[in-house]
Amino acid sequence: MKAVRLVKTGSPLAVQEIPVPEIGEKDVLVRVQAAGICHSDAHYRAGRSPVRPLPMTLGHEVAGVVERIGAAVRHLKPGDRVCLHYNITCGECIFCGTGNEQFCPHVLMIGHFTNGGYAQYIGVPARNALPLPPEIPFAQGATLMCASATAFHSLRKSRLRAGETAAVIGVGGLGISAVQFARAFGAIEVFAVDIREESLALAAAYGAHPVHARKVDPVTEIRRLTGGRGVDVAIEMLGSPSTMQQAVRSLAPMGRAVFVGISDEAVPFDTYHEILGNEAEIIGCSDHLLSELPTVIEMARRGVLDTARVVTRSVPLDAGEINGVLDELERGGAGIRTVIVP
Ligand SMILES: [Zn+2]
Ligand SMILES: [Zn+2]
Repeated sequence: MKAVRLVKTGSPLAVQEIPVPEIGEKDVLVRVQAAGICHSDAHYRAGRSPVRPLPMTLGHEVAGVVERIGAAVRHLKPGDRVCLHYNITCGECIFCGTGNEQFCPHVLMIGHFTNGGYAQYIGVPARNALPLPPEIPFAQGATLMCASATAFHSLRKSRLRAGETAAVIGVGGLGISAVQFARAFGAIEVFAVDIREESLALAAAYGAHPVHARKVDPVTEIRRLTGGRGVDVAIEMLGSPSTMQQAVRSLAPMGRAVFVGISDEAVPFDTYHEILGNEAEIIGCSDHLLSELPTVIEMARRGVLDTARVVTRSVPLDAGEINGVLDELERGGAGIRTVIVP
């Protein structure tokens, strides 16, 4: 079969002919119908996040049709529409056994540490394949499995309750889902902070109050709009020290800041005024859980979560086209959400 693969770090992806994956008795073989091109894939290609072993088929946002099932698979059959949870875990360690499988020491993310979806077929354990209802197009099903799922996990981690207020800092792929989930979780007001007009307009269309961080100081503006109180929940999607500080400084007493954006930099806080005196909480959020995905899919099916305006383009399974999209992501092209349709 045809696969578009990272052969050498720092070089363009290349097309290779490789065998259709063999599947074990608890696995399914899926014919890929859509594979999202994610910003992470640009990091992998550039070598900022190591991929091993090489060559590796990238693509961790995958939806398709079950082609074949292993002998022990009961809940799926050939022809079923599915989307794939990207973390393949052992299922047996203490973290897997307690439903916190993002900490499984044996986790293999597809498209990163095991072959992914930039290909005609992919083989995965059957428990990683979730039924995709016919109301959700494959392209949207694929992107639900990354940004939307992690946004959902961040809202869960925030413990947002009905009647509270929230701010989402950075309304790209993750943030636009987080805005919608915050509303669905019962936030009476959601502030969307960004510097991109297009993203702010989209967040506003989903019911957020846009805050343009180049035109106003977001902390001052959020305080002004909440009568000085601040928000109960602030979700930080960008991973920069300054926006992490903004998230904490925007909090009301007993507010919770959830850090989703990745950074390894030290961030200074005024520990008395900003954290302990306020009984504020800073909560880390890493990835998402298999157990959360059926809810994310059902919310998308019901239109509570709308991703129709997120996927803007599709390209064929062609190395040149895919490299072009990754180049655009490297240049920081806003609003790009492209899926590969083999
Ligand atoms: Zn992704
Ligand atoms: Zn495990």
